[in-house]
Amino acid sequence: MGIKEQPKLPRFRIVANILLAVSGLFLLLNLFLPGLFASGPAGVPYSLFIHQVQEGEVSRVSVGQNQIIYQLKAENAEPAQVFATTPIFDLELPKLLEEKGVEFAATPPPKNTWFTTLLSWVIPPLIFIGIWQFFLARGGGGGGPQGALSIGKSKAKVYVEGESAKITFADVAGVEEAKTELVEIVDFLKTPARFTQIGARIPKGVLLVGPPGTGKTLLAKAVAGEAGVPFFSISGSEFVELFVGVGSSRVRDLFEQAKKQAPCIVFIDELDAIGKSRSSNGFYGGNDEREQTLNQLLTEMDGFAAGDATVIVLAATNRPETLDPALLRPGRFDRQVLVDRPDLSGREAILKIHAQKVKLGDDVNLKAIATRTPGFAGADLANLVNEAALLAARNLRERVAQEDFAEAIERVVAGLEKKSRVMNETEKKIVAYHEVGHAMVGALTTGNGRVEKISIIPRGMAALGYTLQLPTEDRFLMNEAELRGQIATLLGGRSAEEIVFNSITTGASNDLQRATDLAERMVTAYGMSKVLGPLAYQQGQQAAFLGNGGANPRRAVSEDTSKAIDSEVKEIVETAHEQALEILRQNRDLLEAIATQLLETEVIEGEKLHDLLSQVKPVTHS
Ligand code: ADP
Ligand code: MG
Ligand code: ZN
Repeated sequence: MGIKEQPKLPRFRIVANILLAVSGLFLLLNLFLPGLFASGPAGVPYSLFIHQVQEGEVSRVSVGQNQIIYQLKAENAEPAQVFATTPIFDLELPKLLEEKGVEFAATPPPKNTWFTTLLSWVIPPLIFIGIWQFFLARGGGGGGPQGALSIGKSKAKVYVEGESAKITFADVAGVEEAKTELVEIVDFLKTPARFTQIGARIPKGVLLVGPPGTGKTLLAKAVAGEAGVPFFSISGSEFVELFVGVGSSRVRDLFEQAKKQAPCIVFIDELDAIGKSRSSNGFYGGNDEREQTLNQLLTEMDGFAAGDATVIVLAATNRPETLDPALLRPGRFDRQVLVDRPDLSGREAILKIHAQKVKLGDDVNLKAIATRTPGFAGADLANLVNEAALLAARNLRERVAQEDFAEAIERVVAGLEKKSRVMNETEKKIVAYHEVGHAMVGALTTGNGRVEKISIIPRGMAALGYTLQLPTEDRFLMNEAELRGQIATLLGGRSAEEIVFNSITTGASNDLQRATDLAERMVTAYGMSKVLGPLAYQQGQQAAFLGNGGANPRRAVSEDTSKAIDSEVKEIVETAHEQALEILRQNRDLLEAIATQLLETEVIEGEKLHDLLSQVKPVTHS
């Protein structure tokens, strides 16, 4: 990758290392000092010394702990010869010297002793400090912001543009909408004047949201590569550290550095690790550390006013629903960019990018591979290409062949099964008709938003496909017909399965649940049943409207009333079911046509979808 990484070595780490080195040196000196300064008299064996004493040749002796220095009797006018020897444990020596009339004394302590003594006092503490520092550094710091050794320095990595191939938008495919949004950010970083001149305020925070492996981190790096500005990257999980207070000091430090280098990008990967909703912190009353870190992040984001330093905060998460709502308020991460799993053409484009890195055989058909891999995210596709290349190499092929891809798909799918669903052809077909059923019934009944998108790309664990309806206006009240329309739409999926396959799968259980809940609320909460009248049969009226709230516990009612409620609910649901079936039966050809098209492209949206759905004919009663 073309991006160079410059890890910052914290200052205290360097200090600790110097301390260690110096104390080590002192220790060595201390050991060898006596030896170093002990030049001088020639050394002789102890036995020779004793012999010379006995012969009466020695005039004076100076007995030290480590050394005995002695002088021979001067002959003639020549200077007296001095020798040294190493003492052994010899209690007889003084007696012998006295006998022979040798002048002797103990050696005074050597002159440099004060120095070594000092060292022996100073070095051990130094070593301990060194070791302490070392472990602190490994433990991720401590002591908080007031720490004298500036512990808690940001671990953010600074990416700067490398000369070799950097990551650009050309390396990212299949997420066109996200790219369009981010191109705008890059434009702003490059030519801020163009925007500020007309008074446009650029978003401070952009949150990339999407399932794992769809290229969020990659997109952020591409933004940095395209904009050519410094890029501070830190992962949310790195924030959550052992020592209280360090997380928040990291955030502060990160933004300090960023402001100095503006214009620049701060990228917080896996934001959910720190941005978890403060209320959902679980049994132990919350994680103080995380909360402080989050608060610090909010403070920092509010801190830099629009206009002065151009610091854009990019963040990524695959669990936006767990994020603290405070993070999503205007002025913070007010822009959210969906990075979804790629559709058919997107997958082909991603395969093309990654296939450039391997040698492809002539028979390889990337489109066919893309068709076989619904639900694969970018990372899965990158992995697939690599897996195929490995297989080709194992089979001693020069180039990757189509059959390598076929085998690789099987392997990757086996590994993926736990993560996300990969559907077989039959399942895909059922899901396609199911979703088209929702869309067509939704198009003909009131009370639903406009159908904007139908997709058979699996999302997460639960949904195999989905129909996206967006409200055309804000609705606060709904009438009975609209609620019945909603129920019919919910049943549209199952109805389509019934008509086309003459059988029912388990896929519709969530639809049925929601339809039944809605019908029950109509009867027990909204008083929409003629039989039961305008009575509330639920306890405590909560805001259980417009599809959100669950059913409240029923008021204590008589057995008869309870039966009546059940039969009314059943009536509403069954009527809606009939309505849905009728719509689809009378538009059977269109159902086939749209489903066939959906199977081909996997996603139909926007104008194209509106055109198709406008052809749905209202039910005629004959
Ligand atoms: P995320 O951060 O969304 O979990 P990453 O950006 O880490 O996913 O993706 C991992 C790798 O998968 C990337 O480095 C890239 O090789 C590949 N990849 C993912 N999405 C795409 C994409 N849209 N286009 C090209 N490659 C992709
Ligand atoms: Mg990532
Ligand atoms: Zn459904």
